Amino acid sequence: MSLFDHPDYDEHEELHCFRDPASGLRAIIAIHSTALGPAAGGCRRWQYASNDAALADALRLSRGMTYKNAIAGLPLGGGKSVILEDRDTVKSPELFAAFGRAVDSLGGRYITAEDVGITVDDMRLVRRETRYVSGLPQDGQNAGGDPSPWTALGVFLGILASAKTRLGVDSLAGLRVAVQGVGNVGMHLCRLLHGAGAHLRVADVNRRNLQRVRDEMPVSESAPNDLLFSDVDILAPCALGNILNSETIPRIRARVIAGAANNQLAVAADGARIADQGILYAPDYVINAGGIISVSREYFGNGSEDKVRADVHRIPERLVAIFEESSRTQTPTNEVADALARRIVDVGAAGKPVDQVA
Ligand code: NAD
Repeated sequence: MSLFDHPDYDEHEELHCFRDPASGLRAIIAIHSTALGPAAGGCRRWQYASNDAALADALRLSRGMTYKNAIAGLPLGGGKSVILEDRDTVKSPELFAAFGRAVDSLGGRYITAEDVGITVDDMRLVRRETRYVSGLPQDGQNAGGDPSPWTALGVFLGILASAKTRLGVDSLAGLRVAVQGVGNVGMHLCRLLHGAGAHLRVADVNRRNLQRVRDEMPVSESAPNDLLFSDVDILAPCALGNILNSETIPRIRARVIAGAANNQLAVAADGARIADQGILYAPDYVINAGGIISVSREYFGNGSEDKVRADVHRIPERLVAIFEESSRTQTPTNEVADALARRIVDVGAAGKPVDQVA
């Protein structure tokens, strides 16, 4: 199979493989689109089941970033990088230096930041080799630092808007919310949900992360494989993608699915499966844009934390517009969002202001 026939290839502009034997780095950087600006998207470090799984992840995640940045109104295209781990890979300064050189070699067409398996300290190491990096330690009141609290805030506000739309409530007090994955975003989200009076059910494959949330607030737990099917009002996927598919969807009991994980739907048709079951799905790349909003203001040096907060507070109105169009046209929410994102990119590509479309 050639790359151009790959099921996840979608007119990507560039695809790069990097290997640095000295540090053990093996990485893929996918640039999906630069129509709206330099391609931006985090770096994921993961032990993939196969090289093809890593390639598919880079292709899908980078396209998702194009859509995410477009709908968030950012002057950024979509890209993503993955660092392939294996049992022998050591997370070292040399590894991130080699990754930084790889990013730098693209001359600013790709801007990196944190994603799964990457910390602010890792990005500081990358910064020694390239300026095309964001998510660095905060400088005073300027935007910056770990994007995950902003992602969590956007998801929390999106959950509120989704609950109002589907459950007709103005508050999360007393609602049962299942959070899959209590890592960087999931942990911050649990704090916000707990503060709003929700009852939490959580799962994680990482015992340390589970203990961290248990130490801070009352939660009930499920085995990672069972959490999706819990008897809850809201399901918030905050781990990895592809979890909503033809096998899992029929067993989901929540009435709202709204979480941070990228690529939650295994295939686009899963959006219709979810809608047919009467579940409201908040498109992942719309609700989880808080982190890239912070990354963007940090990178361009055009904003304070307050501006980031104000931008993140606009996520619910975008979601509600998508929910309304979905209801009016009887089209699944993911299809409404995809079509909107493509329109924005097309208009941007034609050199017209993005706000003429949105
Ligand atoms: P993270 O690595 O800090 O946390 C992910 C957590 O999920 C980990 O605790 C991990 O052990 C857990 N996990 C993995 N597989 C699991 C499974 N099968 N069941 C339960 N738990 C499992 O990553 P993060 O930064 O919190 O990101 C979480 C998700 O949100 C990812 O899909 C990421 O792409 C997406 N996202 C993150 C950001 C951000 O700002 N960090 C922004 C947008 C989207």
